Amino acid sequence: MKLVVIGGDAAGMSAASQARKRLGRSDLSIVVFERGHYTSYSACGIPYWIGGAVDDAGKLVARTPDEHRRAGIDVRLRHEVAGIDLDRREVLVHDLDGGGEVREPFDHLMYAAGATPFTPEWARAGGEGVFGVQTLGDGEAIHAWLDREPQPRRAVVIGGGYIGVEMAEAMVLRGLTVTLLEKSPQPMGKTVDPDMGALVQKAIRGLGIEVVTDTRVEGLQTEDGRVRAVVTPGGVLPADVVVLGLGVRPNTALAREAGLPLGPTEGVRTDLRMRVEGLEGVWAAGDCVETRHLLTGGPVHVPLGTHANKQGRVAGINIGGGYATFPGVIGTAVTKVCDLEVARTGLTSKEARAAGYSFVTATIDSTSRAGYYPGAELMTVKLIAERRTGLLLGAQIVGRAEAAKRIDALAVATWNRMTVEEMTALDLSYAPPFAPVWDPVLIAARKATEAVHASL
Ligand SMILES: Cc1cc2nc3c(=O)[nH]c(=O)nc-3n(C[C@H](O)[C@H](O)[C@H](O)COP(=O)(O)OP(=O)(O)OC[C@H]3O[C@@H](n4cnc5c(N)ncnc54)[C@H](O)[C@@H]3O)c2cc1C
Repeated sequence: MKLVVIGGDAAGMSAASQARKRLGRSDLSIVVFERGHYTSYSACGIPYWIGGAVDDAGKLVARTPDEHRRAGIDVRLRHEVAGIDLDRREVLVHDLDGGGEVREPFDHLMYAAGATPFTPEWARAGGEGVFGVQTLGDGEAIHAWLDREPQPRRAVVIGGGYIGVEMAEAMVLRGLTVTLLEKSPQPMGKTVDPDMGALVQKAIRGLGIEVVTDTRVEGLQTEDGRVRAVVTPGGVLPADVVVLGLGVRPNTALAREAGLPLGPTEGVRTDLRMRVEGLEGVWAAGDCVETRHLLTGGPVHVPLGTHANKQGRVAGINIGGGYATFPGVIGTAVTKVCDLEVARTGLTSKEARAAGYSFVTATIDSTSRAGYYPGAELMTVKLIAERRTGLLLGAQIVGRAEAAKRIDALAVATWNRMTVEEMTALDLSYAPPFAPVWDPVLIAARKATEAVHASL
């Protein structure tokens, strides 16, 4: 039996490794086609490598192609799959370096082609010095550009989602003057509610980053083939380097052409076992699939490494003859801006409203540790609870320390459909170096419970 994998990163290699673990080399041969130079790399680590917190790109590679090969996985780098023939059960592959073309038959096919960054026409024609951030290769290109002489001094980051914000901070750490452009009223507007986003915006400005909101890029100016400026309705911003963080969509062109079913988010549709709907022996996972939101029940595209690894593992177990499922997501995410942690789980107010929920919110300010204990830092916690039932629908935390630890407790509560009233009695840990005697999560749950009672 042969498994062919398209895409050699989180989802694809998790699937390959699990399938290999379950089936011996004589029962299953595995071929992975990856068009880049790396396997199992952490794109999530790119901003920290560029910013200098991680000193070596090699550390972002969890498993090299040779390590996978030693485990019995035939990894073929710089090979791009150009077509899938479901009737003949084979893929058409271009050798990007050698120039040849091969057809590879499969019994099982794993589609793990990731996502495609949104790149407007003006960016494609933008000249040297304009970068997307999707693969380790992109990270290397940015790193090399920042190292060249004369060194770039002014950066414009376009897009204020978490990748744009992380890259803006990385540029500041590299000593550049940075402008962040965002089309909505504030950065991270899709991640958190506007009141919490205002705290994030303040922190970004505190880093010395100029934040320009409610703006659109009209084009780029170039000179000698290099980017020189970004043109907006408000003026022309000089730039030696431009970084795009405009979001991604599922990379499903190949899948669509081959007739794999796509959902309303354009992601490949799978069942709970990550089998492509209606197709025997065809699997998909990671940024290229759509999944189910466990609170709304609706389809969502949430391109995160945490899901890609889990989904790939589930697919690999099933390909290997086991049984595993991926039930869906609740939208948990965390990032940091300098020393400010920004975390969320469940639905934002906008998402809850769009799903039809009627809800109340409660926001509290507290500290990460007992107020008297050294290192206690301020933290703002916001909870969103359904009116009448008090079901926890979502939570957001912005704080200088330990927001991530607390959002995970809130994610477990959301996942298990707790009410905010039930949460007030949660047996959370307490000692002065770790929390105030009333943990911020419990204070927020109490306030949200009062709001629910008041709404009855
Ligand atoms: C800067 C940055 C920061 C991030 N930070 C976080 C974070 O903090 N937390 C988090 O959870 N997630 C984060 N993510 C998202 C996370 O990296 C992705 O969700 C994850 O990598 C998705 O894994 P994947 O295997 O589905 O896709 P990818 O990692 O995109 O891998 C797909 C692979 O398929 C290859 N490929 C595509 N088409 C073909 C083809 N036709 N033939 C052969 N090969 C092909 C590509 O070259 C690529 O290597 C971040 C992403 C970026 C870019």
